[in-house]
Amino acid sequence: PRPIDDLLCAMADTTAARMKVTAGRAVVHWFKMDLRTQDNTALALAARMAAENGVPLIGLFVLSPQDYEAHLTSPVRVDFMLRSLRVLKNDLAKLDVPLWIETVDKRSEAPARIVELLQDWGASHLFANMEYEADELRREAKIVRLCAERGIAMEVVHDTCVVLPGRLKSGTGNQYAVYSPWRRAWVSHIHDNLELLELLPPPGQNPASTRLDFSRLFECAVPVAPASKRLDPEAAVRFEALWPAGEHEAMKRLEMFCEEKVGGYAKNRNIPSVTGTSSLSVHFASGTLSARTAVRYARDRNNTKRLDGGNEGIQTWISEIAWRDFYKHVLVNWPYVCMNKPFKPEYANIEWSYNRTHFEAWTQGRTGFPLVDAAMRQMQHTGYCHNRCRMVVASFLSKDLLVDWRMGERFFMEHLIDGDFASNNGGWGFAASVGVDPQPYFRIFNPLLQSEKFDPDGEYIRKWIPELKGVQGKAIHDPYGRGAGEQARKAGYSEPIVEHKGARDRALTAYKKGIASG
Ligand code: FAD
Repeated sequence: PRPIDDLLCAMADTTAARMKVTAGRAVVHWFKMDLRTQDNTALALAARMAAENGVPLIGLFVLSPQDYEAHLTSPVRVDFMLRSLRVLKNDLAKLDVPLWIETVDKRSEAPARIVELLQDWGASHLFANMEYEADELRREAKIVRLCAERGIAMEVVHDTCVVLPGRLKSGTGNQYAVYSPWRRAWVSHIHDNLELLELLPPPGQNPASTRLDFSRLFECAVPVAPASKRLDPEAAVRFEALWPAGEHEAMKRLEMFCEEKVGGYAKNRNIPSVTGTSSLSVHFASGTLSARTAVRYARDRNNTKRLDGGNEGIQTWISEIAWRDFYKHVLVNWPYVCMNKPFKPEYANIEWSYNRTHFEAWTQGRTGFPLVDAAMRQMQHTGYCHNRCRMVVASFLSKDLLVDWRMGERFFMEHLIDGDFASNNGGWGFAASVGVDPQPYFRIFNPLLQSEKFDPDGEYIRKWIPELKGVQGKAIHDPYGRGAGEQARKAGYSEPIVEHKGARDRALTAYKKGIASG
């Protein structure tokens, strides 16, 4: 069965047991990648149950260094989550809700440790939002069963998507594998389904536990990052300034974007030198902002108050958020994409290259293709990279260099601050043509044309490649091919590591051969 079915079965199997569970002495919400108090489905349910039964609500967060290794979580992402956790802890404290942070060495220890804590606290209800990666769904199924054995009810609910996975079916009754018809169904589904969730109880309404030293729970500190994921002090300061954490910052960014930028989004979103996109992906990835809130907020600023009319920028932006939902729906329905397999099985036989020199030149921004190099350096420096550039570098790695796209996918997860399995896997699948509803394999971006089209004055390139600062005019896109080679060489900028036309022919041959034998 799909991992989600296993979890749903676990919850169905334990329903009778859950119905018999009494209120207990506390209700617990387990925070994961939903580090916010507002518009948080499981947290709202937990708060309601606690209020109805007059027992305290306790927040729990489980930190497992091994999880970060297994999920390739980048140090910048860990840093952002821990900073967001500090904001969350303060916000919850203002509502008299303690947040307990538990560290477990091994991820396999988490289920038993969670149950132990619930028993210590006398809690008989645990709430959590669902995460759709296979490992997480399986872990949750295990905890649901373990809880039921101990007389504890666990409720795992949908929250992270605007429309819950499995809700939209194509004409044949199946999950859509093509984005456009799926998006139309998504838009019509959410017209009437975007209402606000209840807010948490106001301060002073969360009773202290009668049997616990409640103040001890409030004193629990947010730990520092595990050694393998720690930023050096200079980077920590830089990232904090670049990416302020927590849900208030997320709301500020959303409001600012909708005030100042969304109107020009349709026109500017492809120009990497312009700050024309929201940069909210980091907040969606850590759950410091709910995608529902974002869609609702943008929709309410549209003069039609609709999702499919009115302001073009707002409509386009909401369609981009839909991509995030789309890839999560795909992950739930076809969980094998979590297992290093291409979505399209016929693409499993392509003979990829594992040329380390090429791969390292790509990671370091030294391929000799300025737009590719600028993008990779932006990612190394900021933990973020513009969407157009993500597509260009992913296409370059998988097609021009014919390097296994999974190496790029992994590298992105290890470096992005917004690393999200479903979107990253979807983006790589799209660019390398092996994913769901991808770019056709014979559509191979010409990095020089992409550069001329989307960075016509070379502003973005000059920002990230200091060696090319002095290169004038169109030579910026291809210094060695357009007469600025001597200047580029003197400044230490690499020569192109491949020739695009030859690389393109090689990729076409490899793809055709792979598909034919697939
Ligand atoms: P905006 O343009 O403001 O868009 C708003 C939101 O819509 C984004 O924050 C994001 O949540 C969603 N969105 C936009 N485009 C996409 C898309 N193509 N796929 C899925 N969601 C989208 N996005 C991630 O959040 N995490 C990743 O790990 C990730 N890896 C990617 C890898 C590749 C190879 C590619 C091509 C794309 C990847 N994306 C990823 C999607 C996209 O590049 C980023 O979401 C976007 O650049 C974030 O910037 P923004 O918040 O300013 O986006």
